[in-house]
Amino acid sequence: MAMDNLTIVKELDSRYAVVLGFCTKGDLDTVYDNEAEAREANGGNAPSVGFVIVDRTISAWADFAELAFSCIEDALRCYQEHMASPGAKPDLLCMPLDDELALTLIERDPSNSTMYAFGFYDLKAQQPLTSIPNFSTCNEALSYYEQALKDWEDGEVEDDEEFAITDFSGDYAFLNNGFDQDDNPIHIFGWDFRTAEGAFQSQKCPEQAASFMNCTSREAKRMGAKVPLRKDWDSVRDIVMYEVLQAKFAQSADLAQMLLGTGGAKIEPHNTRHDNHWGSCQCAECAEKEKENRLGAILMRIRETLKQ
Ligand SMILES: [Zn+2]
Repeated sequence: MAMDNLTIVKELDSRYAVVLGFCTKGDLDTVYDNEAEAREANGGNAPSVGFVIVDRTISAWADFAELAFSCIEDALRCYQEHMASPGAKPDLLCMPLDDELALTLIERDPSNSTMYAFGFYDLKAQQPLTSIPNFSTCNEALSYYEQALKDWEDGEVEDDEEFAITDFSGDYAFLNNGFDQDDNPIHIFGWDFRTAEGAFQSQKCPEQAASFMNCTSREAKRMGAKVPLRKDWDSVRDIVMYEVLQAKFAQSADLAQMLLGTGGAKIEPHNTRHDNHWGSCQCAECAEKEKENRLGAILMRIRETLKQ
């Protein structure tokens, strides 16, 4: 494995660098620098992507993994020295990405053998994120990192029209159709729904709509795939989505305020499951495909109506 194939996210000094690495679920000790190889080792499924520190003076990941146990403090010291240099960003944990997230060193699978990687730390909750954002492609992880770093450098970006909301989590979880409204359900189609996803999926078979009322997003999708699908679904699904989301934001002053708070930001949820109807798939295969981004378009349209 040639070191010049590595995707270097950040050079810490002349020896150590933060790079993207790929792991399979069952074997965190083996880190691949090549997504295709990791995918093959993972039975064809997308591997996990994380940030790891490499020693660029050695030539193979296996050597790195072994060396990392003894050199991680050196790596951290090098990093801290780097941070102390003029113009370096403030050193908080490892590196703040914005006012909510920081990169931090994490220890993986300490019961078995130890591997260190950069993980994310929630600055508000003062604890490591229990689930590190699960990137399925190298580009996805890299663009997340670059966006987070850019946001941190730019400060507040909410009213910046150049800014795109591509991930419906964290501050933007309320945009997600899985956002739990157990305490303030969406009243539509004659029923009260805990999630927008439940309300939307219920219309695949309106006769069974009541059974979707208490569904989480995942449950709603699963049930929606099983019910007898109405024949005109493809031609009505966009309208159903609009009606559901219109109700969601019209019925909650808080949610309406949060949507208005996104200012002029472009809303375009990214995914890697080839969904270019509702969002925008970021995989290589879809690079040339048209991104309809209907979900983003609906949310932006509702935001415009709220301004009036
Ligand atoms: Zn795709």
